Amino acid sequence: MKTSIATVSISGNLREKLAAIAAAGFDGIEIFEQDFIADEASPREIGNMIRDHGLEITLFQPFRDFEGLPEPYRAKAFDRAERKFDVMQELGTDLVLICSTVHPKSLGGIDRAAADLRELGARAAKRGLRIGYEALAWGKHVDDHRDAWEIVRRSDHPNTGLILDSFHTLGRKLDPETIRAIPGDKIFFVQLADAPLIEMDLLYWSRHFRNMPGEGDLDVTKFMQAVMATGYSGPISLEIFNDQFRGGNTASLAVDGYRSLIALMDDVKRAEPGLSLDLPPAIPQRSAAKGVSFVEFTSRGDEARALEAQLTMLGFEQVGSHVNKSVSLWQQGGIRIVLNEDTQGQAAAIWATRGTCVCDFGIEVADTEAVVSRANALGAAPFAQPLGPGELPIPAIKGLSGTLIHFLDNASKIDDVWQKEFGASAVPQGAGMTHIDHLAQTMSYDEMLSWSLFYTTLFEMEKSPIADVIDPDGLVRSQVVQTKDGALKVTLNGADTHRTLAGSFLAESFGATVQHLALATDDIFATLEALGRKGFKPLEISANYYDDLAARFDLPKDLLARMKRHNVLYDEDLGGDFFQCYAPTLVNGFFFEIVQRNPGYAGFGGPNAPFRIASQKRLNQVKGMPAK
Ligand code: MG
Ligand code: MG
Repeated sequence: MKTSIATVSISGNLREKLAAIAAAGFDGIEIFEQDFIADEASPREIGNMIRDHGLEITLFQPFRDFEGLPEPYRAKAFDRAERKFDVMQELGTDLVLICSTVHPKSLGGIDRAAADLRELGARAAKRGLRIGYEALAWGKHVDDHRDAWEIVRRSDHPNTGLILDSFHTLGRKLDPETIRAIPGDKIFFVQLADAPLIEMDLLYWSRHFRNMPGEGDLDVTKFMQAVMATGYSGPISLEIFNDQFRGGNTASLAVDGYRSLIALMDDVKRAEPGLSLDLPPAIPQRSAAKGVSFVEFTSRGDEARALEAQLTMLGFEQVGSHVNKSVSLWQQGGIRIVLNEDTQGQAAAIWATRGTCVCDFGIEVADTEAVVSRANALGAAPFAQPLGPGELPIPAIKGLSGTLIHFLDNASKIDDVWQKEFGASAVPQGAGMTHIDHLAQTMSYDEMLSWSLFYTTLFEMEKSPIADVIDPDGLVRSQVVQTKDGALKVTLNGADTHRTLAGSFLAESFGATVQHLALATDDIFATLEALGRKGFKPLEISANYYDDLAARFDLPKDLLARMKRHNVLYDEDLGGDFFQCYAPTLVNGFFFEIVQRNPGYAGFGGPNAPFRIASQKRLNQVKGMPAK
């Protein structure tokens, strides 16, 4: 399998793009004319520069508005094509993309287009070049890959073939199964893109909202299964036009692209076991995640003491200290919080740049070796640091934004780690909190797709549609990724501006991601009564909230009064109901949430977020915020 990506898919100038694309592991690039028009080097020098990166030019594009024209436009179109052929030969590539015409003078007619392609194919053949024809979803006469194939078929020239693009097929809701009827050797090139389902003009949707396979809502896997069934063996290339990507981080976009392509082709291979596919070596399948095993904070001094004070007030007990390091373990039910104050190692390095924050978390899986091997195949950076005496080797990777993720399984005897490294044995029940309901991560909006791709390609996890959360000072986009059984639930919050609570957290923590942890209890009122006796004071919620709640839901008066007394927020859906309460914000904007999720409730208290955020902002004058 030859992997490729269109240069237009990522940000940066041509040289930055090439370095990032090569480093991510791609074999080739589709080159856009604009890329080298903007560069000072000649096409020949650029071709050499690309090959010096170990990349080949898989496609030259685009060539527009070619077929079906009357004279004198027709002759001019052929002249233009000959000039493109000159450039292609200078660059050192043999395939050009011709997209179906939108020229106002174009006459249409399958045989007219076929005759034009045949003549162009003959001219290309003289130079050892090939032409590929693609149906644009908004083409004037041809907007369907089946019509494009009929034109290519009737052009009847060995140097003329078809180019398929998942967006043009799936975006127009054409059945990708129809691709199975096309001979694979006449498909010259395949371009892939996903997109979120949004009702809008096709051209605008395509130019601004495409994203990597797996990041959107189109069934790119089904499309690719049909393509591979034809016997197609050419490059598999990403062609993404996306406004966010144009301004994103060049290197991480290239890594995302490679990750999406490898995960996609792995899915195709599993879905079509009957095909012998020329694909990279087998990788382990997605792991089932069984929950959060621990969350580790890096901290120092007063901030560490404040964290300990809040943990104590929340019913946690220190159950152990690390054998070699200045690290303590706190526990309540199945929730483990690690507090790392060591001056050596990765946690210390993260503290030096971000201050007190969550630097690491552990995910419990069935087979740690399988998950690490899949993560590495998908381009994640492995992580290891030297082990001290008595320390167990726990596999880890560097997650996005530098946060570490450890993997624990039963075979590695999870409990052994806590016992051997921390001397922990007792499991205090504290105030009745049992496990981590969800992990809430915050990132800038343009990194959100990276995170959802990371989780959904590594684990058996599904993503929700993106929802808007209203902050008094801006909008935050929110998406949930979770396992089917809900054992691991992560909420992703994408901030556009530093003025939102999520945005100010990012600014203050210099890019840390875990902004809050939701701790589950079976009885939130019993838990809060117990915490109250320890002096716990929750985030205060306005009285107006409870008046509104009484109007929105049919709730017993005494329950409403209890909620108000304990500052508990409420939500319900068709499946069940949900109670939540917040601890005061800690250093750098991190906070704990306490939740009671009754069976069947599928949400995260989303409708309450604006009230919670408003309260948090009222109580904390956040950095970067105008004084109110
Ligand atoms: Mg295309
Ligand atoms: Mg939450």
